[in-house]
Amino acid sequence: MDNNKHIIHMDQDAFFVSVELRKNPKLIGQPVIVGGGSDRGVVTSCSYEARKFGVHAAMPGRMAKQLCPQAIFVRGNMDDYSKASHEITQIIADRVPLFEKASIDEHYIDMTGMDKFFGCMKFASELRQTIIKETHLPISFGLSVNKTVSKIGTNECKPNGELEIPFPGVRNFLNPLAVHKIPGIGEATYKKLSEMGVRRIQTLAEIPKDLMFKILGQHGLALWQKANGIDLSNVVPYRERKSIGTQTTFENDSMDISKMKAILSGMVTNLAYELRSQQKLTACITVTIRYSNFETVTQQSRIPYTSLDSFLIAKAHDLFKTLYKKRMLLRLIGVKLSHLVSGFEQIGLYQTSEEEYDLYQAMDKVRNHYGIESVVKACIVKRPERDENGKVIKYNPRKKKADESEHPPASKKSRIRTFINTE
Ligand SMILES: [Mg+2]
Repeated sequence: MDNNKHIIHMDQDAFFVSVELRKNPKLIGQPVIVGGGSDRGVVTSCSYEARKFGVHAAMPGRMAKQLCPQAIFVRGNMDDYSKASHEITQIIADRVPLFEKASIDEHYIDMTGMDKFFGCMKFASELRQTIIKETHLPISFGLSVNKTVSKIGTNECKPNGELEIPFPGVRNFLNPLAVHKIPGIGEATYKKLSEMGVRRIQTLAEIPKDLMFKILGQHGLALWQKANGIDLSNVVPYRERKSIGTQTTFENDSMDISKMKAILSGMVTNLAYELRSQQKLTACITVTIRYSNFETVTQQSRIPYTSLDSFLIAKAHDLFKTLYKKRMLLRLIGVKLSHLVSGFEQIGLYQTSEEEYDLYQAMDKVRNHYGIESVVKACIVKRPERDENGKVIKYNPRKKKADESEHPPASKKSRIRTFINTE
């Protein structure tokens, strides 16, 4: 165990609900639920008053209504939450040299080396007070020797709490806790551990390492380490903002705007799928175009955290419209999504219908099985040819078109490449 590190984990309490309370103080003290208002919706966040009734995040809204009929359901607004998230990140960025934005409302701060100049607990406590004072949003933190123990610490002292777990006390702190308090234990693993009779972290920590590997493989080994208070992962600096992007160079330069838009839609669809499969959200979209004379222009836009195709495609089209000013041929078009954080798309927080959301989930399932190109939006593919009655003309690959023999089609129209970039 590395006992020389000092890692703070900061996490907003009931973040989405807290932002709603800040907007509408009349809701303070009430059982408030964000999301889940519609019949098939899911609870995204709930106030501690609602939690007393057994309501929790990810619960079907209908069930929440049964448990707590007096609950006040709020639709939620991702734009507000994203803004609040940026406020918090800015306060932290102004005060510490090394931090990681782990999700929309969570940050890790590496205080290692600074502990000689500041008392870490005093520093963290003052930072927490500053965030509360400037944002009026409640926050808790844990301070310990690594990310895992600090995060467990935060969860144990929530809401409105702060907890220091100094090195000698790590094992004693972890031992009595239930195994599901270890971050990253999924339902399946929890079930398996329960079947083995493992309920407390201490029991898990005392299982021979090799046995854990035999039962759960690499994941078992990682769990065993966490149970023993070991976590070697680093705080990844926020300035190393990851981005994903893709660009297309046309074989033949083009001025066909509807074709450009269709290509953009296709690229964004693939990137959004990539985001969702990495369980990430983006807060910034960039579109680049290159004219045939190699003049390259770029425009970017900050957006509420999202991974939804429809929203991102509309933004990409907007950016393209502002960018494409000259009546000149284009040779390249590119899209990049950056300012990525971990997180899931929250149903009901966007102007997205449940049907559309279900559609994305179904499309992702097909792509997971049959590959990324297996299902695409209709706007991306060429419309089928129709006869004078509007009937689709069946394509006969053996029948050559008359003019094709003279002008063979370009073998490949474009080259598309995707890159994952660490800036
Ligand atoms: Mg939180």
